[in-house]
Amino acid sequence: MSELLHVPSLVIAASVTGACVSAGHLLVWRAVRSEVGVLIWGIAYGLATMAMVMLGLRGHIPAFWSITVSNAMLLLASGQIWLGYRRFFGKVAGLDRFLALLGPLVWLALACDQELFADFNFRTHAISAMQFLYLLTLGFELVRQCRKECLQALVLTIALIVFQETMLVSRTVYLFFYPLNSTGMTLPNGTLIGLTLIGSMAVLVFSGLLQLALVARRSEQRFRIAAETDELTGLANRRRFLNEVLPRLATRPANSALILFDLDHFKHINDTYGHLTGDRALVAFAQILVKAAPRDAQTARVGGEEFALFLPDENMATAAALAERVRLLTQGYRMENGKGDLRLTVSGGIASVAEVGTDYETLHSAADAALYIAKSEGRNRVALHRPDPARPYLAFSRTDDRSSRPTSAAV
Ligand code: GH3
Ligand code: MG
Ligand code: MG
Repeated sequence: MSELLHVPSLVIAASVTGACVSAGHLLVWRAVRSEVGVLIWGIAYGLATMAMVMLGLRGHIPAFWSITVSNAMLLLASGQIWLGYRRFFGKVAGLDRFLALLGPLVWLALACDQELFADFNFRTHAISAMQFLYLLTLGFELVRQCRKECLQALVLTIALIVFQETMLVSRTVYLFFYPLNSTGMTLPNGTLIGLTLIGSMAVLVFSGLLQLALVARRSEQRFRIAAETDELTGLANRRRFLNEVLPRLATRPANSALILFDLDHFKHINDTYGHLTGDRALVAFAQILVKAAPRDAQTARVGGEEFALFLPDENMATAAALAERVRLLTQGYRMENGKGDLRLTVSGGIASVAEVGTDYETLHSAADAALYIAKSEGRNRVALHRPDPARPYLAFSRTDDRSSRPTSAAV
């Protein structure tokens, strides 16, 4: 077996593998610069590669570089991998930067005791213990993350860590019973070292691929969110609105309502105050809507100055009260402007599942027709769709507008 596993060749293979993984990460980071974790991983794999080259040159370069510095770099790489995951999960830099350096510092401190350090078995035990601790900390970090969102790549990384920990423990136990006799001036040959190198290569490639899988998934998530979000207001766009609402309607709820809002005379606002101020007014209305909406509601910007609010568990009366609140808040809004205070009003149309059923098209048409009534009745008011064929719509505007008592209108 030891003839089969030629250690110097395996060291070269492991170094080339590490260099490829490092280069791959650095290239990916160039494309997704916001992912600092990927940069840290790339540097960590680069450090590990250099450490392996120095290890492989044992006997050809001074022992200080090939033993002390190379292993310190390996530990530094382990710490950086852990740090990379923390940054990837959004943890802000803090004490962890120093904790990541602790391993190499302890190693350098141990190196001061030259007699102890000359023993290959002691050095291996010390390195194994510190790597075990780094992996354990990383494992806890991943399990915590998995509780929030259990991704397949995370589960596989945890499995990989368990594998590495098992390898480390097995090596330690083996060396305890069969200590290697090495002067430290040459790299000991043999099955144990060969298997460690093969295992390290497998871990390098596999963990690198899993990290890239995590990055790919996050990028895909970001693109999906961007494609479903209105850029100006940050609300859901029509696509996400339908993706959220249609499944809820498919459960055939007894109570649900849809409110469509349309800002009044918005063309005039643009013409008077300019398009940019118009944009700010749209953002302000979106904020009013989000603030007023219950937690389980779905808000969206479904057109230029048109917004939708789906209430999954409200009847017509509570939906009407909410729409009226949004109308009053909008009416009370003022935006300071060089051309005088900008004032906004909004009209709303409401339809409820109890009256028109759970078909979305029908619900939307009914709310839209009610909105049309609110506009034609004078705007700055809310209209309800009702089942009464003689008086299918009720338009009203409350509290501050005594002139417009509830009125019925048939279309
Ligand atoms: P009504 O009371 O009948 O709803 O009148 P309106 O002027 O609001 O309706 P109309 O449909 O005639 O005009 C809508 C205006 O909304 C025209 C368009 O320029 C403006 N608009 C649409 N999207 C945006 C946007 O993203 N930003 C700005 N500033 N204006 C927008
Ligand atoms: Mg409109
Ligand atoms: Mg409008």
